[in-house]
Amino acid sequence: MLTQNSLSQERKMKLRWFVTLSTMPLLGVLTAFGLVPQSDLGLTSTKLTIEEIALPKVAANSAAVAASFWRNERMQRGDTVAELLQRLNIQDSTAIDYLRTAAEAESFRKLGIGKEVQAETDAAGGLISLRYLGDNGAQTVIEKKGDGYATRTQAAQLEKRLFVRTGEIKTSLYAATDAAGMPEAAANRLTEIFSGDIDFHHDLRRGDKFTVVYEMTYSNGELIDAGRIQAAEFINQGHAYRAVYFQGDTPNGDYYTPEGKSVRKAFLRSPIEFSRVSSGFSNSRLHPVLNTWRAHKGVDFAAPIGTKVKVTSDGVVSMVGKQGGYGNVVMVNHQGRFTTVYGHLSAYAKGLHKGQRVAQGEVIGYVGMTGLASGPHLHYEFRIDGQQRDPLRVALPDAQPVSAANKVAFQSLADSFVARLNLLRNTNLAKVD
Ligand SMILES: [Zn+2]
Repeated sequence: MLTQNSLSQERKMKLRWFVTLSTMPLLGVLTAFGLVPQSDLGLTSTKLTIEEIALPKVAANSAAVAASFWRNERMQRGDTVAELLQRLNIQDSTAIDYLRTAAEAESFRKLGIGKEVQAETDAAGGLISLRYLGDNGAQTVIEKKGDGYATRTQAAQLEKRLFVRTGEIKTSLYAATDAAGMPEAAANRLTEIFSGDIDFHHDLRRGDKFTVVYEMTYSNGELIDAGRIQAAEFINQGHAYRAVYFQGDTPNGDYYTPEGKSVRKAFLRSPIEFSRVSSGFSNSRLHPVLNTWRAHKGVDFAAPIGTKVKVTSDGVVSMVGKQGGYGNVVMVNHQGRFTTVYGHLSAYAKGLHKGQRVAQGEVIGYVGMTGLASGPHLHYEFRIDGQQRDPLRVALPDAQPVSAANKVAFQSLADSFVARLNLLRNTNLAKVD
């Protein structure tokens, strides 16, 4: 059985794939396709660069750089302005006064913990310039001007960089994404995208493969958004699933198959993230509390008390309250024919009431053990026309496809990504130790 969380041993497995294209120097596993906006993903513009976040270098004291020094420091918990300045090697009393008192430098004094400050000083510790990113993503520059200092802001220089990673599952998904060097946000996103088709708790197999094209957004060299996936392929048990991100139809965009079908299902497979099924759907099982054989017409998800329970599809709440063995239960109607049931809850979402519209993924309550439950878990039922069905097995309807109006725009985008995924698949995949 594959587990998702044991990273340490798998770090050693070194199962690392990367794409070699003819001109690429073997400097590392980080490959990136140049800086191209979503609309300009032609393969001809592919440019490989080795990614290194470009921060000002700490200049060596060479003649060429006329003895100016860059330092990067982060604001630490409990830091005073004086302490930060000291670490930045700023020994210039004019600069220190300015940074401590000038109204226009106020944002410097309010920098949050972990914020990075870059400072350029001369050999004597005089401040030449200092910069940092404000909360709005704009860069603040404080620099020498005449005898004093001035502060200005400049618009953030946003850079979007596309990365590609491929990996193969040896022991667990996260071991593989970790080995491939994917940021955690992108790894999580990958499982969300395909969660309608692949049950990541049960369906993963050794040898499953993935290819992910994702975007990292940098503002003046600082990472501000990690890992929005633009396209991905997941080969699970020999079956390839593909998804392309497209922004045309919904405000936040969505993922579609290359044919334009939504990869989202009208129903999530699981109302809980990261849980395990402790008891599946069965027509006859030994009841853990009653100790008799009974049908179990739902699926139990073991999870700690208080874990968020999410409604698996858009719908209208039809019941909130206590009911026999279910304990505290929420029932939701969807599209007329479907009902989902969430039992044994410790609490309901604040204000939840009968008749309320809820959206897929919205939290409706919290895991508990009310009613007939031997331990904390969610009892989840999926009913079609009033009949309980196994939610892990039933074929779920899809969410909305790409609209007719956007079909052409979508198709050209999808084709370029498919070409890219094919290229990656067909290019010589070099396996490094
Ligand atoms: Zn149950």
